[in-house]
Amino acid sequence: MMSSIRLENVSKQFEGSMAVNNLSLEIADGEFLVLVGPSGCGKSTLLRLLAGLEQVSEGRILQAGSDITDLEPRERNFSMIFQNYALFPHMTVEQNITFGMRMRNEPKSQHRARVDRVADLLQLGELLGRKPGKLSGGQRQRVAMARAIVRDPKLFLMDEPLSNLDARLRTEVRDGIMTLHQQLKTSTVYVTHDQMEAMTMADRIAVLNGGHLQQIGAPQTLYAHPANLFVAGFIGTPAMNIFKLPCRDGVVMVDNQAVHLPDTAHARQLTEVYLGIRPEHIEDDARFTPLNGDDSRRIMLNASLTYCELLGADYLNHAQTSLGALRYLRENRGNAPQANQQVTLSFSLQDIHLFSGQNQLNL
Ligand code: ATP
Repeated sequence: MMSSIRLENVSKQFEGSMAVNNLSLEIADGEFLVLVGPSGCGKSTLLRLLAGLEQVSEGRILQAGSDITDLEPRERNFSMIFQNYALFPHMTVEQNITFGMRMRNEPKSQHRARVDRVADLLQLGELLGRKPGKLSGGQRQRVAMARAIVRDPKLFLMDEPLSNLDARLRTEVRDGIMTLHQQLKTSTVYVTHDQMEAMTMADRIAVLNGGHLQQIGAPQTLYAHPANLFVAGFIGTPAMNIFKLPCRDGVVMVDNQAVHLPDTAHARQLTEVYLGIRPEHIEDDARFTPLNGDDSRRIMLNASLTYCELLGADYLNHAQTSLGALRYLRENRGNAPQANQQVTLSFSLQDIHLFSGQNQLNL
């Protein structure tokens, strides 16, 4: 944990609005942390606070135990990579990469070895003499990354570096970033609004909403145990189905089937809960095989299909049930679903998520 970075109760206020609200988290040495959340939730502001491009209003930032809250950006030895990777058009790739070193008057003798190393790492050897105008989008992004890593920073800060790339390049650059991270193991904070990107890249994901940290954890933890209704709806594609249902004495009726809430004082006094079930955890009778007569741990629902989208490997079926409209996935094995088809849906009690109707926290 030598160079771990810690935010302690950090807030950032802009003209009365709180962009980041009393946020605490730690970035472990070598960790790839992804900040995710809807537009305006404070992701970029948090990154800019880390970079020193914005002043914190309250709280502090520590690096390896020492307070860096008031350090200038250049004193932090962090490298930021933006979505519009601003290269100098009149300079060659090599001059772009060495720009920072030249500004700092570092001895020329050191340039060569370091440029060769990053050029090798990012496969830029052939391109060192070219100007940015003669590069593809993916190549430009690699040059921007080379420029960021050549100074061997303690932390990479990446603000949606894939967002200006087309789908194929996105995958290519994403794989490049991951390979690079495996080789360098430099701590990284990566901002995206794309939760799929977050799921595939992150060691841990921090979900933000309205400047508040909602949950931080491994992708699988957030997927399997969302802390609250917001995280439940935000993490996972297609999104979790969520129904608001009345409950009494710790029991919620799901289409006449009793589901017991966890036995806590809070749950016993609730009159409403949110019940969540992911589309991939619902089966229909086209593929459902009853489990040896033990249906007590499954919910069964009659449903009518309203429409069906072919996603490729699966159909995303939209169905009307007594709980309301829901969506579920059916594997595409040539058994094309039909609109208005009547089906029986089923899901396991183990796969449901229950949230308090009062504070929206996971029960
Ligand atoms: P997006 O995904 O759209 O980039 P974000 O999560 O990165 O959004 P921020 O850019 O951090 O969100 O903005 C958080 C909030 O702070 C927003 O309400 C935004 O309008 C506000 N904000 C950001 N920068 C400033 C500024 N310089 N002055 C005033 N308000 C700002």
